[in-house]
Amino acid sequence: MQDSYKYQGMRRQLIKELSEKGIKSQQVLMCFEVVPRHFFLDNVFAEQAYSNIAFQIGAGQTISHPYTVAFQTELLNIKKGESILEIGTGSGFQTSILCEMGAKVFSIERHKELHLKAKNILRHLKYNCRLSFGDGYKGLPSFAPFDKIIITCGAPDVPEELLNQLKVGGVMVIPIGEGEEQLMKRITKVSEHEVEIEDFGVFKFVPMLENKVK
Ligand code: SAH
Repeated sequence: MQDSYKYQGMRRQLIKELSEKGIKSQQVLMCFEVVPRHFFLDNVFAEQAYSNIAFQIGAGQTISHPYTVAFQTELLNIKKGESILEIGTGSGFQTSILCEMGAKVFSIERHKELHLKAKNILRHLKYNCRLSFGDGYKGLPSFAPFDKIIITCGAPDVPEELLNQLKVGGVMVIPIGEGEEQLMKRITKVSEHEVEIEDFGVFKFVPMLENKVK
C-alpha cells in the first residue's frame, strides 16, 4: 500500500467535511491529514477511503465513520503523554489517531484476526502502541489506571471494571445501548465513587460482547 498526492488531497477534502459537520479541534483535524485511512481498508475500498463511510473489515466488524472517530477523539480532550485505553481495536484506525494525538495508547480487540492485522499495519506505519488480544471488559489491570478510556463498540452499560481502571479526574467516552443505536456518553470520574455523565447524541456501533474472545 502506498500513500500519494491523490490520497493526501482526498484527506484534505475529508477534513473540510469533518469541520463542516462540527469538529472544531484543529489538533484532531490535523491527525486526519496525516493518517492514511486507505491503509486500514481492503484494497477494493481504497478510492472511497476518505468518504464519511463505515466499511467491513472482516470478522463481521466495521471500521467506524471518520466523523465518529473524530467526534470521540474530540470528546476525549487528549493532552500529550496521557495514557489511553481503547476497547475495540478493529482496523486500528482510531488507535493511530490516538497515537497522532500524542497519547500513550493501549488497545484491546477480541478477534485475533483483526488484532493481528491491526498490529501489522500500525507497526508498518511506525506507531508505538500496545495492542492486546482479549476481552475488553477486563481492561488491562497491569497498566491501569488510565487517564482516558475510549470504547469503540456499543456497550449495554458502563463496564464496572473499566471504571475502576480510570484515574480520578479521568474521562471515559462510551456509546451505550443494546439495540442498533447507542447514545454517546462522556463519563468523568469526579471521585473514587462518583461520576458525571454528559450525553452527545445517537451513533451506530457493533456490539461490545463479553467473554467472546476468538
Ligand atoms: N476502533 C475501530 C472500530 C472497530 S468496530 C476502528 O477504528 O476500526 C469495534 C470493535 O470492537 C470490533 O472489532 C469488535 O470485534 C471489538 N469488540 C467488541 N467487543 C469487544 C470486547 N469485549 N473486547 C474487545 N474488543 C471488542
